[in-house]
Amino acid sequence: MAKTIQAIRGMNDCLPEISGTWQQVESVLRQVVASYGYQEIRTPIVESTDLFKRSIGEVTDIVEKEMYTFEDRNGDSLTLRPEGTASCVRAGNEHGLLYNQQQRLWYMGPMFRHERPQKGRYRQFHQFGVETFGLDGPDIDLEVILLSARIWKLFGIEKHVKLQINSLGSNEARQAYRETLVSYLKARADQLDEDSLRRLESNPLRVLDSKNPQVQAAIVDAPALIDHLDEESKAHFDALCSRLSAAGIEFEVNPNLVRGLDYYNRTVFEWVTDSLGAQGTVCAGGRYDGLVEQLGGKATPAVGFAMGMERLVLLLTTLHEDAVDSSFADIYVTALGDDTQAYAVEVSESLRQLLPNARILMHCGGGNLKKQLKRADKTGAGIALLLGSQEMQSREVVIKPLRDGQEQSTVSFDALAETVADLLNV
Ligand code: ATP
Ligand code: MG
Repeated sequence: MAKTIQAIRGMNDCLPEISGTWQQVESVLRQVVASYGYQEIRTPIVESTDLFKRSIGEVTDIVEKEMYTFEDRNGDSLTLRPEGTASCVRAGNEHGLLYNQQQRLWYMGPMFRHERPQKGRYRQFHQFGVETFGLDGPDIDLEVILLSARIWKLFGIEKHVKLQINSLGSNEARQAYRETLVSYLKARADQLDEDSLRRLESNPLRVLDSKNPQVQAAIVDAPALIDHLDEESKAHFDALCSRLSAAGIEFEVNPNLVRGLDYYNRTVFEWVTDSLGAQGTVCAGGRYDGLVEQLGGKATPAVGFAMGMERLVLLLTTLHEDAVDSSFADIYVTALGDDTQAYAVEVSESLRQLLPNARILMHCGGGNLKKQLKRADKTGAGIALLLGSQEMQSREVVIKPLRDGQEQSTVSFDALAETVADLLNV
């Protein structure tokens, strides 16, 4: 037998048993962004490697060790996108969407990072994200946070996620704080791991983002950036905090929240959960006022977030197993005997024409009624239509409810669509 070929480690197939849940999640996300007036942007999955180096930052986990980078046949260095923000800014600059304009954009799609696969962490994963441009006040920071909060509400998981926020201040304030942090960390160098020691020199704020428990213990009492903010950033942060409270959004200020990407300034935030084990961050974002200019555009303020869709789906299936509708048909059309096949096709096609929202599965492959009804049951259909030669002759159909123990009934072909629509609410 030929050797089977398997998927790449950390890159998952989305099988029929869960793809319905993904479709439901995607449709709720689309509905939420539409309700806030956001527009979709779709960018390529492959970009120039430079784009990510210049935006995410050379001394970050993503650029140092997680990118899928390769040379194409022309010898250009290309990278499978590890995140969506850099591409949005690149596209915005390239097509003149940003300068002197306001944009509220969203995207959804696969991202790629070469990480150690585990629950909630994969090498191909999906992000849903929003990016806003041209707005610099705390009002838009609040809006993107409210938008994310509405997503939890619509999925009924708002009790299971908590908002953490922090401010990274201006570049200048961060530069000054850097010195303070470095001397604190140098005094505790013996408690730092290899990565953190290297970063102490190149990008000390990254040490605060370490996932190593020993390093985390060493930094609990580190001087906080939030106490070293410039005045404008402090005012921006205070205004955001009071607006969040006014909007009824609970939050916690986490002074060690710095995010794993270099482009952030001022507001940063994460939504975290206790329900997923180690991979607890479901959504993360913040302000990146310098990025547009850094990538060659004119200075444009910006704020956004990205949500890990696998983690969202995991959270949903963990928290409410039964909330997921696993049916894939509403009506199952059976046909007894070879000569009724054409009648079954006529019935099915006419229902699809008259009830475009109904999911109609027509039995193929023959067999007795028992076998056909067994299949009908597996699809989750609410009703089965029974067609035999007698029904064909009298142009009638027997409707058999499958779920609620109701009696079966016979209706004429012409009255079928209306009767079925009433029964199923489609
Ligand atoms: P983490 O700290 O979990 O590594 P991150 O800071 O690298 O996350 P971001 O770059 O901010 O993550 O991405 C935003 C969101 O995308 C994360 O909060 C998470 O929900 C999701 N995400 C990131 N990396 C992965 C991955 N490898 N697999 C699945 N989801 C991921
Ligand atoms: Mg990461």
